[in-house]
Amino acid sequence: QQPFLSIKDLKVHFSTEDGIVKAVDGLSFDLVRGKTLGIVGESGSGKSVTNLTILGLHNPDSTKVEGSIVLDGQELNGASERTLEKLRGNKMAMIFQDALTSLSPYHTIGKQIGETYRKHTGCSKQAARERAIEMLKRVGIPQPEVRVDDYPHQFSGGMRQRAMIAMALVCDPELLIADEPTTALDVTVQAQIMDLLKDLQQEFGTSIIFITHDLGVIADIADDVLVMYGGRCVERGTKKEVLRDPQHPYTWGLLSSMPSLDHPVDVPLNPIPGSPPSLLNPPSGCRFHPRCTFAEKVEGGLCSAERPLLEIVDGRGSACHLSADQRAEFFTDLAGSA
Ligand code: SF4
Ligand code: MG
Repeated sequence: QQPFLSIKDLKVHFSTEDGIVKAVDGLSFDLVRGKTLGIVGESGSGKSVTNLTILGLHNPDSTKVEGSIVLDGQELNGASERTLEKLRGNKMAMIFQDALTSLSPYHTIGKQIGETYRKHTGCSKQAARERAIEMLKRVGIPQPEVRVDDYPHQFSGGMRQRAMIAMALVCDPELLIADEPTTALDVTVQAQIMDLLKDLQQEFGTSIIFITHDLGVIADIADDVLVMYGGRCVERGTKKEVLRDPQHPYTWGLLSSMPSLDHPVDVPLNPIPGSPPSLLNPPSGCRFHPRCTFAEKVEGGLCSAERPLLEIVDGRGSACHLSADQRAEFFTDLAGSA
């Protein structure tokens, strides 16, 4: 089966006063239609930048994008703003951590959802309003016929998040990119929103990219997982493969700092000692080497000298110089896999 979205050797570099920031540096991945790909990594790992670039929401003046982004057979890197404008909100849509970045405080919820629909379908105002009510109902807003005329500030945080999802889904997008959409919400509402996304995916077969720094969220929602570090993918596999049998020291470190994967929603990710790499001046070789406890086990100083290649076989692989035997020896007891 052809992947629905295929990213090949994506590089996203920004010019800043201090030099070139290599926010994404040679990233490749595929997304199968109807599946959820969880992208996990610390802040600054390039996960949000990747997704803004897919949507064409980067600043073209200061950003250089190389590589290929093929959505359903169509190349998006270099596509005109007109083309991207047509696709955004229609074929692909995004939900963010903070609903207030996508909802305007000056217009009613119903107007905003309806306008997105009208823009892409050219329908009447009446039809747009009916569609907005239908969408609010679908995402579980009580009394949608009444609440449709509310302004965002009249909604609770969880309801605003639902309204944003309604707006993102109003044109039945085939690709939904969710960037930490539940991070700001309390645990109960978080769980409700996750359930809502799962239901909507079941119903409409939407392909989802779910960006998070929380492995518990990944355990809850993803089919496949991509672990990013320093603008690159360090590990890729099915959820089960990555969470139960990590191959990369970074993934292993994240997982071993977690008490358990069996209580997914409220498990925060304990960062590994050390800080994320500078993307202005990235570490040589493996970008994780300054923080990796296993770097010295690899002979010949290879970790700081040579970039480990990411070899993906059947959707599974990692970028690390350790041998399989070494991994088996070093990666001990994961709390969650007991
Ligand atoms: Fe650690 Fe070396 Fe593997 Fe990088 S390549 S993760 S530094 S062992
Ligand atoms: Mg982010």
